[in-house]
Amino acid sequence: MTTKWTSVFYTTFINDTRFEILKRYDRLRMIGSGAQGVVCASYDRLLERDVAIKKLSRPFQNVTHAKRAFREFKIMQIVNHKNIIGLLDAFTPQKTLEEFQDVYLVMELMDANLCQVIQMDIDHERMSYLLYQLLCGIKHLHSAGIIHRDLKPSNIVVKSDCSLKILDFGLARPSGAALMMTPYVVTRYYRAPEVILGMGYQENVDIWSVGCIMGEIIRGRVLFPGNDHIDQWNRIVEQLGTPTQEFMTRLQSTVRNYVENRPRHAGYSFEILFPDVLFPNVSSVQMDLNAGQARDLLSKMLVIDPERRISVEGALNHPYIRLWREESEVNAPAPNSYDESFEQQDRTVDQWKDLIYSEVKNYETINRNQLDALIRTIRDESTE
Ligand code: AMP
Repeated sequence: MTTKWTSVFYTTFINDTRFEILKRYDRLRMIGSGAQGVVCASYDRLLERDVAIKKLSRPFQNVTHAKRAFREFKIMQIVNHKNIIGLLDAFTPQKTLEEFQDVYLVMELMDANLCQVIQMDIDHERMSYLLYQLLCGIKHLHSAGIIHRDLKPSNIVVKSDCSLKILDFGLARPSGAALMMTPYVVTRYYRAPEVILGMGYQENVDIWSVGCIMGEIIRGRVLFPGNDHIDQWNRIVEQLGTPTQEFMTRLQSTVRNYVENRPRHAGYSFEILFPDVLFPNVSSVQMDLNAGQARDLLSKMLVIDPERRISVEGALNHPYIRLWREESEVNAPAPNSYDESFEQQDRTVDQWKDLIYSEVKNYETINRNQLDALIRTIRDESTE
């Protein structure tokens, strides 16, 4: 039975998407879709657990898709942290490179993405715990040399027990060559000023996104819903105020020209941007979990100038967050570094196809051996 489950495929349709998957994975139901394809919940009959399966349809169809799929697949294999989604299995139903079409990634199953949580009224404990976990996940990615730069609620998933995991690994290092070929609309609301303005960036670029997400949970709507980069920038300065002249000097001349010639805005205080009425009641158990501390943290994260913005470590030590601190979560051993230069190398679509195919086949072999060993152990234990 086990071999049949782990080597025989069956076909099923989820809405209009064809899933050709191992017999081991049963009871598929659609739970989401993104730029890369459809995601289903499923049940792993072999290891008797719920999983999520993402179908990457022809991930090599263009260089943008290929880079993203490759990046996701490689990073998922190197990171191992409770606040980052883990890869449980990966396979392709095709048997040869010529036939190669699709990759399926099997992951831990979560209950909802953060967009759904934003719609709910959550108390300070939950908000602070969600933010703590998000910061732990970000810190772990940073320790592998991965600076995300594109965190958004749809790429963060949660369970009803309030556990949280980051789903994707953000933007590849800018290379200029990767034109966005997909017609899929990209959400830019959470991108930091330094990304919008094409400046250099450091780790706290991801803190801006955390600030946008926290602010949205409190306000119940997107803070800076720009239609494009220019509109995005305008919305930021209208609320937070035009940055200092010294900040302007760090911009490239064309960008600086534009930014300096915009009308000046004084911005609003955080008491006005996030008035008391928007916040939940003070926690009865944790006095630091109140509107004042939440607003203080927000005011340190939503700072246009990255040099004045709080660091990840600073946010983890803030009174609104630090009560959850566990060293094993905050400073988990760093994974192997991810070599981003690999993505920068120029490859044709056929070369990407070849590379992704061999990566998946290689993974299948290693994973199959590990699985066989696991099954033998379980059998031995049950006959002892
Ligand atoms: P993605 O294609 O990775 O951007 O995922 C699209 C959507 O599918 C997400 O916004 C989630 O709502 C859902 N999703 C993806 N992976 C999972 C997972 N492991 N558990 C639960 N939901 C997921």
